Amino acid sequence: MAKQRMLQFVNVDRDMPEKRPPNLRAQDFGEIYAEYATAKAEEQAGRCSQCGVPYCQSHCPLHNNIPDWLRMTAEGRLQEAYEISQATNTFPEICGRICPQDRLCEGSCVIEQSGHGTVTIGAVEKYITDTAWENGWVKPAAPKVERPESVGIIGAGPGGLAAADMLRRQGVQVTVYDRYDRAGGLLTYGIPGFKLEKDVVMKRVDQLEQGGVTFKMNCNVGEDVSFAELQNTHDAILIATGVYKSRDLPAPGVGAQGIVRAIDFLTASNRKSFGDAVPEFDSGELNAEGKRVVVIGGGDTAMDCLRTSIRQGATSVKCLYRRDKANMPGSQREVANAEEEGVEFVWLSAPKGFAGDTVEGVMVSKMRLGAPDASGRQSPEIIEGADYVEDADLVIMALGFEPEALPTLWDVPELEVTRWGTVKADFRTHETSLKGVYACGDIQRGASLVVWAIRDGREAAEAIMDQINAAAQVAAE
Ligand SMILES: Cc1cc2nc3c(=O)[nH]c(=O)nc-3n(C[C@H](O)[C@H](O)[C@H](O)COP(=O)(O)OP(=O)(O)OC[C@H]3O[C@@H](n4cnc5c(N)ncnc54)[C@H](O)[C@@H]3O)c2cc1C
Ligand code: SF4
Repeated sequence: MAKQRMLQFVNVDRDMPEKRPPNLRAQDFGEIYAEYATAKAEEQAGRCSQCGVPYCQSHCPLHNNIPDWLRMTAEGRLQEAYEISQATNTFPEICGRICPQDRLCEGSCVIEQSGHGTVTIGAVEKYITDTAWENGWVKPAAPKVERPESVGIIGAGPGGLAAADMLRRQGVQVTVYDRYDRAGGLLTYGIPGFKLEKDVVMKRVDQLEQGGVTFKMNCNVGEDVSFAELQNTHDAILIATGVYKSRDLPAPGVGAQGIVRAIDFLTASNRKSFGDAVPEFDSGELNAEGKRVVVIGGGDTAMDCLRTSIRQGATSVKCLYRRDKANMPGSQREVANAEEEGVEFVWLSAPKGFAGDTVEGVMVSKMRLGAPDASGRQSPEIIEGADYVEDADLVIMALGFEPEALPTLWDVPELEVTRWGTVKADFRTHETSLKGVYACGDIQRGASLVVWAIRDGREAAEAIMDQINAAAQVAAE
């Protein structure tokens, strides 16, 4: 375990060039690695200048008390560091692994701004909580008093699970409904295992169960149980269903075999890693092995498809994006990772159609960046006469996600949605247009980040507790 933790903490090839000598037992090597990881975490934490203007903290959506837990780590006071870290974050080891830190805490580190390289805040956060798990400091909910009130949470992604944890710790009866067979939402079936190991997520789910959260899996709300039934069963409902409708590309030939959606490709890969039977993977439909892969899109989902394709043994992996590198929506760190692993980025290139009944290539228009649009971003324009065909055996569409039409699917027209289809809810209390019904995460804010879903889930749980406490007080009077 210590070795595994170490491998995730440092770039072993760069930082630890001498791999385990053949005469050294793995166990001893693990211990050496663990010591090295501790030294590395302490060294990084010690680089924090305690600048007094903690931009890192204000740029963390959870406003984590980063300077304090860095100081504790530098002083070797890891349990205290963990206590401070977990006070504001339900899943610190997950955020430490997959937050785009370059756009959040680390991007605004004063040391980074002065050109000396950021303190690796995410890696230290992961290290602290991984150590806490190993030492048994991470405890399941054990409420002192069981309350009679119950809350139904629809969706077992990070938003729903963060709320479930907070509510359960206060003695509320919590039932989480999810249409998948495993909890975790995109943590489980979206984000690839090389970024977020699945046992890290499952450990959290197991602990929530140990703490008394009830999970009703394979339960599609709107089909297996109606929304109205849930409203009748629970004192409050939290909608945490995420956004899953893949954006399409209306282009000639788009229905050809070999053109697949990013979420299907990534889910198949993640299911395989659990050892599930995945016929579409085994048949080659959702498997990049031996193929020329073209991924369309420039966000983090596209990066995950590219890097998964490399790992599956694709013969070539290219990313088509209609703007240039400076205008990619995804994390620059992810782009650098993909480039390092052998992905070729084809900038200023937009698909205009697909060749073959079984896809053989993407017809590409070359673009240039023109005048800025209303948002200030330069609009891509087609360069006439510069079209060409990019050969491909597998095309993965990663063009983003939209919300499903919940009011229709759930037969609840009074549930107000925005013009983008996200559920309309107060951004502080998360209460929707329906009394006692709350929303959090991607279904409220649109496709976003895990750390924002956690923040929303925690805020929604607080508002639900206020509602429950107010009702209990009225009943007592
Ligand atoms: C491929 C990919 C990679 C990503 N990588 C990162 C990353 O590296 N870092 C990062 O911070 N963010 C990343 N994100 C974004 C992040 O995963 C999401 O912002 C986050 O998971 C949203 O959490 P959520 O709880 O709102 O919803 P989700 O995680 O989507 O969970 C929603 C849950 O609701 C369930 N559900 C939906 N409808 C129903 C229904 N009708 N009945 C019952 N259950 C239902 C779903 O099955 C799902 O389990 C990534 C997203 C994708 C797609
Ligand atoms: S939660 Fe994310 S943004 Fe906040 S400190 Fe951790 S890694 Fe940085």
